This record gives sequence, C-alpha cells and structure tokens, in this order.
Amino acid sequence: MKVPLLDLKEQNETLRPEIEAALGRVLDANAFILGDEVAAFEKELSEYCNASFAIGCASGSDALVLAMMALDIGPGDEVITTPYSFFATVSAITRVGATPVFVDIDPVDMNLDVSQIEGKITERTKAIEPVHLFGQCSDMTELQSIAAKHGLHLVEDAAQAIGSEEAGRRAGSIGKIGCFSFYPSKNLGGMGDGGIITTNDENLASRLKALRVHGAEKRYHHRWIGLNSRLDGFQGAILRVKLPHLDDWTLRRRQNADTYRRLFADKGLLDLVTLPTELEGRKHIYNQFVIRVEDRRDELKAYLAEKNIGTDIYYPIPLHLQECFAYLGYKKGDLPEAEKAALDTLALPIYPELKADQIEYVTDSIAEFFAK
Ligand SMILES: *Cc1c(COP(=O)(O)O)cnc(C)c1O
Repeated sequence: MKVPLLDLKEQNETLRPEIEAALGRVLDANAFILGDEVAAFEKELSEYCNASFAIGCASGSDALVLAMMALDIGPGDEVITTPYSFFATVSAITRVGATPVFVDIDPVDMNLDVSQIEGKITERTKAIEPVHLFGQCSDMTELQSIAAKHGLHLVEDAAQAIGSEEAGRRAGSIGKIGCFSFYPSKNLGGMGDGGIITTNDENLASRLKALRVHGAEKRYHHRWIGLNSRLDGFQGAILRVKLPHLDDWTLRRRQNADTYRRLFADKGLLDLVTLPTELEGRKHIYNQFVIRVEDRRDELKAYLAEKNIGTDIYYPIPLHLQECFAYLGYKKGDLPEAEKAALDTLALPIYPELKADQIEYVTDSIAEFFAK
C-alpha cells in the first residue's frame, strides 16, 4: 500500500468541473489581479473567520510582512515570537528591520510558552506574534491579557490554522491582525501561492489595502512604501470553490486524528510515541498530525519510507539556529524545548481523503518498527 503525506488528486478531481467554470469566469472578465472574484472571496473568508475585514495578498509570507508594515514595526522594535515554526514567521520581522525575540515553546502543544513571555518584554517590544502550530491555537486568552497589560500588538500567524478556535473564537479574529496562507498544502489550499490578512480594525484594513498596491490609496499617489502583493483572480476563484468544503475537510481530518488515537492505543504504542495533545477550549484543525518519537525518529522515518508511507519533519532546525539569524546571537541550548522538538517530531499523513485502511497500515507499520 502507498500512503503519501498529502494527496490532493481526489479533492481536485472532485472539484474539477466547478474549478474549470470558475477559471472561465476570470478569463471572460479579464480580471487577473484582484477583481470581483477576489473581492467576493475576501468577503466570504472574513465571514468564515469571523473577522470584519480580509485583504488578499500574494502569500502567507507577504501577509506577515504586510502586517508588520501596517503596525509600523521597524528598526529598533522587538517582536516576541516562537523559534519553532516555518521560516516566514521570523523573516517577516527581520524584513521590516525589527528584531525577533524568541521565547521557547511549551512541550505540550509546541506553541509559545506564554509563562516565559513577560520576562522577555522590554521598552522596545512592539508586538507578540504567536503561531497556531499544526492547526491548534495558541493560548490567546493569556496572550491577550499580556498584550493588553503591556500595550503590545498581537499578530496571529494563522497560516496552519484556518477555522481553528480558542475559547469559541476563530483564529485570525482574536489578535490585532491574522495572517493566512493558501499554499497548496494548507487546509484551504490554492493552486499556486496566495495569502490573506484579517482584522477587525477598519483603519488597519484600509492601510493594508494600500500597502499591497505599493502603498497607494489612490493610483499613483503613494502615501506609504508598500509591496506589490495581490491575490490573483484565478486563485480567488479557485478558493471560492473550495471554501464551502472546508468544514467537511476539517471534520474528516479530525476523524482521521481520532482513528489514529484509537489505533495507537489498540496496538499498545502509547508508551513509545507521544500523540498530539488537544487542549481544552481549543479546536484543532490538524493541518498536520505530528507525533513525537524519542531517539529513534529518523530511523522510524526511514522505515516508513521503505513501506511507501510519506512523513515529514516540521521542523528539523529551530529558527534561532538558522544560519541567516546567527547575527541575533542565539546558540544551541538557549531554547531547549524547541531544540528537542526538532529532534523528535514526525508528521504523519492526515489529509481528508485518507482512508481508514491507510491509517491502519501506517499504525501497523509503526508497530512493526517498534517490535523489530
Ligand atoms: C505556510 C506558512 C507560512 C507562509 O505561507 P506561504 O503562503 O507559503 O508564504 C507562514 N507561517 C506558517 C506557520 C506557515 O505554515
């Protein structure tokens, strides 16, 4: 049996007629950059996220940079964030000339350890940028109270967390700004790059709309120095076809997670691997199902590859140890939980179209590995 980490074929084939019709509408309208399909998608997405405004842009990475720009974060400012995430979480901070300040992760959910944040706040701190890693929200209730107490902005990197919830609130509607990605492997994936920024603040929304078109509120009148970063018409049209299916896909991801939990328990594997923990009051949407395997992670990964099972490591090098961030002065041992996670995490297939017998094959293969 073959179990890829992610297989979009079935999803795309099912939607092919609708997607082709949507692409035809964009072609007929000649609206390739922004346009009506994007405007309609922005409205639908803002409603889905329970945010007042959504501003489409070229990628999740750009969404984060635009968020920093809109909040006037720049040289001399510090932004507190996590070392255990995708690169763009941190490069967005450095791209605007600000300094990332890393706080270690909580080993339970691998999100920011909120108890360590206040110790890192200085008079230069402007914002906290939590990541809702793998599809489970950070402790936004606590983060909001810290942010309010110290007058800091909260920027949610919600790229992996569309539709996830904390205390009944949707990711992207809780902080000052939320940033999403439509990279094809996200739960709502486009057919190319794309991103969106959500906010409840009308002034920020209009500034973000200008920043994505070189900072111009009126054509050729540049109030700010922005980016060229728009969501294109084809992506908007495709994402509009997909959005109504998102809740069903999320449900199936959650059911797959339940199946894994049952099978790992049935096969007596719970002492050998650590499964993802769902914290109370959070709705996990399982962009990734990440297990932890001490000492033998790489060996297990290789064994599963031999069995035609796709897995991946998110992330093998914590961001404070990346070569390009050496100038920040961090060294090995500074953020031990992030460094430990980099050594023992392994993402298993969890996509909605995955079949129960495939999940059984994955867990059987893991049981075989440990029995060897
Ligand atoms: C995917 C991702 C991004 C970047 O999104 P792109 O659309 O690929 O630029 C940023 N942060 C996190 C946590 C991500 O997973």
